[in-house]
Amino acid sequence: MSTVELPLLPLGKGKDLSAERGVECPGDLPASSDPDLVARARAAKEALGERVFVLGHHYQRDEVIQFADVTGDSFKLARDAAARPEAEYIVFCGVHFMAESADILTSPSQKVILPDLAAGCSMADMARLGQVEDAWDALADAGVQDQVVPITYMNSSADIKAFCGRNGGAVCTSSNADAALEWAFEQKQDIDGGAKIFFFPDQHLGRNTAVLKMGLSLEDCVVWNPLKLNGGLTVDQLRDAKMILWKGHCSVHGRFTPEVIDELRAKDPEINILVHPECTYEVVTKADLVGSTEFIIKTIEAAPSGSSWAIGTELNLVKRLADAHPDKNIAFLEKTVCFCSTMNRIDLPHLVWALESLVAGTEVNVIEVDADTKREADVALQRMLDLPGKSHRD
Ligand code: SF4
Repeated sequence: MSTVELPLLPLGKGKDLSAERGVECPGDLPASSDPDLVARARAAKEALGERVFVLGHHYQRDEVIQFADVTGDSFKLARDAAARPEAEYIVFCGVHFMAESADILTSPSQKVILPDLAAGCSMADMARLGQVEDAWDALADAGVQDQVVPITYMNSSADIKAFCGRNGGAVCTSSNADAALEWAFEQKQDIDGGAKIFFFPDQHLGRNTAVLKMGLSLEDCVVWNPLKLNGGLTVDQLRDAKMILWKGHCSVHGRFTPEVIDELRAKDPEINILVHPECTYEVVTKADLVGSTEFIIKTIEAAPSGSSWAIGTELNLVKRLADAHPDKNIAFLEKTVCFCSTMNRIDLPHLVWALESLVAGTEVNVIEVDADTKREADVALQRMLDLPGKSHRD
């Protein structure tokens, strides 16, 4: 039995869910109070049969996850979609960049649908193509661009992946970021001044990987602030740096604090702290275990009965893990609610609306990446797939 009380407010209880709801849906969005929503979703899915394949990211709500044909992280889901060419429609219950990745990896005849177009990712939005291109020009002006390999986290828009593809860079996930960095440093190892990596959009994953896995120092890392002239950095700072980190972060994982870890350990010295590498360096260095969502799930599945865990990742996933493992003490590593508000925009009314529209012959919210962007992003994704010895999951 669970003895550590979950310090969380379960979704749907004591919270106005409509506050986070996207509204940009043409046609009639069913009322969230409709008692037939579950039956309607089931009927629409049955009517579509093999023509539809529903993907559910680990951070999605339970009400949506119950209709997913497969669950996983963003890259696994995109590959799962690519492995189902008979499915005419891929309904992606996740956020915009994930639907783009699915469109890049699936065949041209398949259409990817995002049930709510307002489901973006605040981290992906922190690196826009124009900003990245300006920064790239500034690196040329500083005389260091030739030394730099751009690496983007999977959690970025398709045009940023394409930027990396056409500039000799690659994509990475939180599972293979170290292999991607190693590969990138090798690409320019013989160049005067040594190799540098420009990493976006998540400064924390970049720093944690560089320092904790690659043996670089914190002083080797500088932060490029796109809102400041020349990123807020001097030419000397750029020349000395090995990692140029984009000033971006995840609004969910960035909220965990080392103070809460101290408090939990003071209450329960046996507690295991398990966090995602999008958390800050201070949190990650205090944790017992660090890894991707898949790593977190597998760690909890393999944990002995009675063991105690505080998990620093998205709330929907932690809540689901706590429900699935009542023999383990699972707590959320934050005192306040900390779900991904954009992930939560995909709710049952939007899913019903998307599925019923397809049944009626209307394609809604189709996510389509243009051919050039697709081709260049695919180059960066392929470089990631060619990295040695990693599972490529985020
Ligand atoms: S959890 Fe963070 S990285 Fe993931 S979709 Fe939400 S804001 Fe983006």
